[in-house]
Amino acid sequence: MNHGVLYRYSPDSESEEAQLVVPAQEREQILRDHHDAPTAGHYGAEDAFNRISNRYYWTGMRKFITDYVKNCPECNRFKARNQKPAGLLQTPVSS
Ligand SMILES: [Zn+2]
Repeated sequence: MNHGVLYRYSPDSESEEAQLVVPAQEREQILRDHHDAPTAGHYGAEDAFNRISNRYYWTGMRKFITDYVKNCPECNRFKARNQKPAGLLQTPVSS
């Protein structure tokens, strides 16, 4: 069995960099750099994935990124403000 580590090289890519296979404990930092950082401006999951996948690879990264963005407090706040048209706000009905 391998240890879940795998290296992917693109032999005919112009880039000389191999994609880095990222250890689990460093993935969140990468997400922060590519999502939370002022320069990243809270990209959506798709954009973040595209950027990160240029340089990094790990198993399940798409889901990881999607989940990260979904759970980002800043994004949720932003979305909550912008995605609910005023007329469609649901008033919780409790008995
Ligand atoms: Zn965010």
